[in-house]
Amino acid sequence: MHVCVIGTGYVGLVTGACFAEFGVQVACVDNVVSKIAMLQEGQLPIHEPGLHELVNKNLREGRLTFTTDITKAIEQALVIFIAVGTPAGVDGATDLRYIDEVADAIGRCMRDYKVVATKSTVPVGTAERIKERIQAAQSEPIAFSVVSNPEFLREGAAIEDFMRPNRVVIGGEDAHALAIMKELYSPLYLIETPVVITDIVTAEMIKYAANAFLAMKISFINEVANVCDAVGADVHDVARGIGLDHRIGRLFLHPGPGYGGSCFPKDVQALVHFAQEAGIDLQLAAAVERVNVNQWQHMVEKIVTTVGGTVADKTIGILGLSFKPNTDDVRDSPALKIIPALQARGAKIKAYDPVAVPTAQQALRDVEYCVDAYTTCAGSDALVLTTEWNQFRALDLERVRALLQQPIMIDLRNVYEPETMRRLGFRYAAVGRRGTYTNRAYDGV
Ligand code: NAD
Repeated sequence: MHVCVIGTGYVGLVTGACFAEFGVQVACVDNVVSKIAMLQEGQLPIHEPGLHELVNKNLREGRLTFTTDITKAIEQALVIFIAVGTPAGVDGATDLRYIDEVADAIGRCMRDYKVVATKSTVPVGTAERIKERIQAAQSEPIAFSVVSNPEFLREGAAIEDFMRPNRVVIGGEDAHALAIMKELYSPLYLIETPVVITDIVTAEMIKYAANAFLAMKISFINEVANVCDAVGADVHDVARGIGLDHRIGRLFLHPGPGYGGSCFPKDVQALVHFAQEAGIDLQLAAAVERVNVNQWQHMVEKIVTTVGGTVADKTIGILGLSFKPNTDDVRDSPALKIIPALQARGAKIKAYDPVAVPTAQQALRDVEYCVDAYTTCAGSDALVLTTEWNQFRALDLERVRALLQQPIMIDLRNVYEPETMRRLGFRYAAVGRRGTYTNRAYDGV
């Protein structure tokens, strides 16, 4: 079977490489010429563990190609995946301009039956819009089916998530298109992956409900962590104590500076927006979003308090710029909100990230980038851990203390143990942990 994937970003590239690995013939299309040129040479424009090897293997074996020629890719494919970006537009609405462009191109270029599968996260009702645009762009009526096939992969673990997903969701209207989609995913049947077959609107809704629920868990535990700090409790024990209840579950109960990335913030906003348009005022999802904004602002206050009440003319070392480990993606990253807020209060910033410096440089100003964690510490008045890369989990803390002007660490990912930090002579703040500087149960050192 031939498929094409339009949009070769975090989702499209992983989708294309993984389907090629399943034995399917895949053409990945993008309209950024430099991106396609890199990929044709086997170089990757993004950082995703394992993807370089997978892309190059399938390039060599001739199942994966990269092109800017959307016409030819559409003509040759039976299934066309749309994997372009769907960023936030005005007032939380989704900006569907890339989806519209692609739908128009599909209508113009198709010469025979196609299955058009939306992998991008799109508001409920977008499949209908895609259908109408394809029809309007056709020079003569040609049959096609639209299906919704939302993607649930996590950056940093994307290949594993695609190859061994918790479930596959396919929303469709006709049996023929659904049968083609099931055939594409047939390697996953061998590992007994649950497949949820439903109608299109429901499939579109599943993606938003999933992301809003996960975001809600994060906002919930962040608020609980803030209360823990105020009353002298420990959020790790609280998370364990509640998470062992199977109805709650242990995952996604890790407090921090708030969720970020290219999905949760915009998807929660989009859900609130399209629900509003449908006449439903979503109180809970709106609160999840508000709590998330409060959280990074609260983290700025925590940093300022721990440093001694002001960061003016202080140098703050930042470890981690990506929104989570194992990716270079800095879209809506908490670090990229916290850094300008500290700069606005007069702080100088030194920063290090294992892979995200080039992407962060496009968004930040006046940051001194360092080559590793230790050069970030050197001469800084405090160290802030913003992303829990493995490299930051086992720092030589005595060396860190010796390099810092003052032994102050604000650990926004709760990587270190308060007791260890105290023993080593740090003023150590974290998020909701007993025995840390901004927790009520702190008895001082
Ligand atoms: P991305 O920005 O990394 O990639 C989108 C790609 O589409 C870019 O390379 C862009 O150049 C290309 N593009 C835009 N218009 C085009 C056109 N007309 N023709 C060809 N190419 C075009 O985005 P992403 O992170 O891969 O996300 C894509 C979609 O998947 C979004 O809707 C997102 O919400 C959803 N999603 C993302 C993730 C994730 O972890 N990133 C997970 C699940 C779902």
